[in-house]
Amino acid sequence: MAFDGQEIWFLTGSQGLYGEETLQQVAEQSQRVAETLDGADAVPVRVVWKPVLTDAGAIRSMMGQANEDPNCLGVITWMHTFSPAKMWISGLDALRKPLLHLHTQADAALPWATIDMDFMNLNQAAHGDREYGFMLTRLRTPRTTVSGHAGNPRVQARVGSWARAAAGAAAARGLKLARFGDNMRNVAVTEGDKVEAEIRFGMSVNTWGVNDLVAVVERVSDSAVDAVVAEYGDLYDMDADLRPGGDRHHSVRYQARIEVALRSFLTDGGFGAFTTNFEDLGGLRQLPGLAVQRLMADGYGFGGEGDWKTSALLRVLKVAAQGLPGGTSFMEDYTYDLASETPKILGAHMLEVCPTIAGEKPRLEVHPLGIGGREDPARLVFSAAPAAGITIGWSDLGDRFRWVANEVDVVEPSEPLPNLPVARAVWEPRPDFETATEGWLTAGGPHHTVLSTQLGADELTDLAEVFQTELVLIDADTTRRSLAKELRWSAAYHRLNQRL
Ligand code: MN
Repeated sequence: MAFDGQEIWFLTGSQGLYGEETLQQVAEQSQRVAETLDGADAVPVRVVWKPVLTDAGAIRSMMGQANEDPNCLGVITWMHTFSPAKMWISGLDALRKPLLHLHTQADAALPWATIDMDFMNLNQAAHGDREYGFMLTRLRTPRTTVSGHAGNPRVQARVGSWARAAAGAAAARGLKLARFGDNMRNVAVTEGDKVEAEIRFGMSVNTWGVNDLVAVVERVSDSAVDAVVAEYGDLYDMDADLRPGGDRHHSVRYQARIEVALRSFLTDGGFGAFTTNFEDLGGLRQLPGLAVQRLMADGYGFGGEGDWKTSALLRVLKVAAQGLPGGTSFMEDYTYDLASETPKILGAHMLEVCPTIAGEKPRLEVHPLGIGGREDPARLVFSAAPAAGITIGWSDLGDRFRWVANEVDVVEPSEPLPNLPVARAVWEPRPDFETATEGWLTAGGPHHTVLSTQLGADELTDLAEVFQTELVLIDADTTRRSLAKELRWSAAYHRLNQRL
């Protein structure tokens, strides 16, 4: 995965009224703004300047090109001068990609001693952007608004986080997700409306029989298994009996066989995400553990127990997070330490936690699994690296989707965990344990989540805006009362905002 070739278009609004000379200055200065953003480390994709737009036909045509260009993730718009906004109606109505309204000015400083009316006419984004912002609001156009000089690191960071969200949105629109089997029987929160998900997010979610995968597992060559096993030896600590020639090496080899098969199944089908279900393993002799962990590390989305919503979310967030420090993983709230002064959440899963969040070299281990009734599966064991992060889950409330997110601080486990043979993360939720968990439960947030120490509230907010999806964010500023009110008002808003 990389952002190679992907770009954001920088569109500048003006009008013909000012004459050629002024429009030339608008072009030069807007190129400078676009170049500043393009060169910013915080902006992970190319920012491509486009010729200044001065009439409705050109705007409509540009938005159509943005829609059709597969490399264009979204558009930044800036009204350098006054650009009468009725001429933006048709183009904005046509735009189907994420939009950022940049409210900026070519130069940060005002030249008090020399300023004249020519300068005022050229540098009038202060009211040009207000005219345009009104039209965006009048049209109910979803967008992110960022204000400030393009050289300001905070502005660059926010443009960057929006660009990441736009990349995530593009990934969702093109996502094909393979489910091996259905959801875990009787579980409620992992269910959901796949038709609505495709309408709203563009993702295509379909089921394959797990024995379709087993057929591929059985065709994997020994040499392909050898190559993957050699990689394990280089990357992970493991006991001698799991290495080639060891008594239990066969367990590692079988999991390697699953990995090779899964990878080729997903590659051949063009899938970016998948799910498994321990209740439906067909002819598989082990639950996919290590294999799933390794595929997540390579950027695939995954959800356990048929949880396609979390799997899709993981894929989208992994795309958005490319190149950032930290990691992003499938996660499940498991158990609590309520005795410490700051209560902690211990998260893990049966096996499937992504090693990108590891704080140490993972250990490859083989242990029995209490559920599923199959052979002992191979898995990576580690604790997550301490960092600020976020957990996010996706619920289907029946009349709409809701994302619930919590800002967290991943911390070291308070003590060693010698008897816990799975990868895990320990975190402290913000603002505090009681407010966060009461809020999560009140919001109907799921037990499966994505844990990311790469992304934060900015990217999630931008993504939710792009998809017009509710985001309940529990952060350092959340109080019990503020959240209760937000949920009530939000329910009314989303109900009113629905089409009849
Ligand atoms: Mn689970």
